[in-house]
Amino acid sequence: MSDAPSPVSSALAPGSTVGILGGGQLGRMLSQAASRLGFDVVILDPEDNSPAGRVSRGQIVAAYDDPTALNVFGRVCDVVTFEFENVPARSVELLAETGVRVAPGPRALAVAQDRVLEKTFLNEAGAPTVEFAMVDDLASLETALKVIPLPALLKTRREGYDGKGQVWIKTAKQAAAAWASIGERPAVLEARALFVRELSIICARGWDGRTAVYPLGWNTHKGGILKTTVAPAEVDPKTERRARAIARAVLEQLDYVGVLGIELFDLGDGRLLVNEIAPRVHNTGHWTQDGCVCDQFEQHIRAIAGWPLGPTSAHAHVEMTNLLGDDIDQWEKLAGKPDMRLHLYGKGEARPGRKMAHVNRVRPL
Ligand code: AMP
Repeated sequence: MSDAPSPVSSALAPGSTVGILGGGQLGRMLSQAASRLGFDVVILDPEDNSPAGRVSRGQIVAAYDDPTALNVFGRVCDVVTFEFENVPARSVELLAETGVRVAPGPRALAVAQDRVLEKTFLNEAGAPTVEFAMVDDLASLETALKVIPLPALLKTRREGYDGKGQVWIKTAKQAAAAWASIGERPAVLEARALFVRELSIICARGWDGRTAVYPLGWNTHKGGILKTTVAPAEVDPKTERRARAIARAVLEQLDYVGVLGIELFDLGDGRLLVNEIAPRVHNTGHWTQDGCVCDQFEQHIRAIAGWPLGPTSAHAHVEMTNLLGDDIDQWEKLAGKPDMRLHLYGKGEARPGRKMAHVNRVRPL
């Protein structure tokens, strides 16, 4: 299956316009990278004054599925991308159908939006996942619980992120309560991954099929939300090779264009399972801003604009920490530390758990 819109015959020249669906922090950092390469950026986001809109040439304030807004957006942009995977796949399809160059394409988005499609695709691509079963109702959950070993994790098929829409099931008796707690929505029941640590790999592919893969990151979570990434992670060469092979297989089989994040469970015995893929720049790739010559944001812009991909090797060791909610109050103290590089998202209200900023602690390799 091919996802590729018409290939870019030549690189987009500086001065062209990049459109980004979504105005959060990922859109903001993409916009900053694009403007450094001489592009203009237009954001489409329903919320006025978005973090990305504030650093861009302009923002269209409209719903992601507003046909008039999409039409205007498509006309002013030379290439369109997105910063989160819950933009309606239909909007991306509509833009692509009207001849707008969109990257990544609608198929990558559709696969990443649905955990069943995603796991099916990954296993077919030779990138193994945990054992799973599709759940459509309570009866199919009860059947799945006879097949998938307990404890098992019930996750909504769509729109789950940062651990939301998920519940652990320890005994078959908990089926009805678990089903109710995820809102009785189509779901997937996953076997527990007995991982020793969580890793991720950030990779990119251009319109010409060339790929670039960054060193692995080692991730820790708190309350289902990413807390830290340490990179380059210390991994044995076999694990590194395996992760790179998974990255290349996923990129190629999606005919992907842009940066993609892959979350991995390291089982500690040489096996890696894919937890999920994100068809966009990824929080676990923020370390590249201070650890690599070409970070993931510039890499994404290069890829979608048909520019040569940039180098991916690390020149520093980085520990990235997310600042959530009122962690942001530490900004002044952190700003005074010579080994810390602070990246603030310009968000107003520091709600609990909200990603407000991250800090990269940099050491020479
Ligand atoms: P997700 O929303 O799928 O990224 O899951 C959030 C976090 O939950 C992951 O980073 C893991 O720490 C944990 N998790 C998710 N799926 C599994 C699984 N099948 N087995 C064990 N832990 C999991």
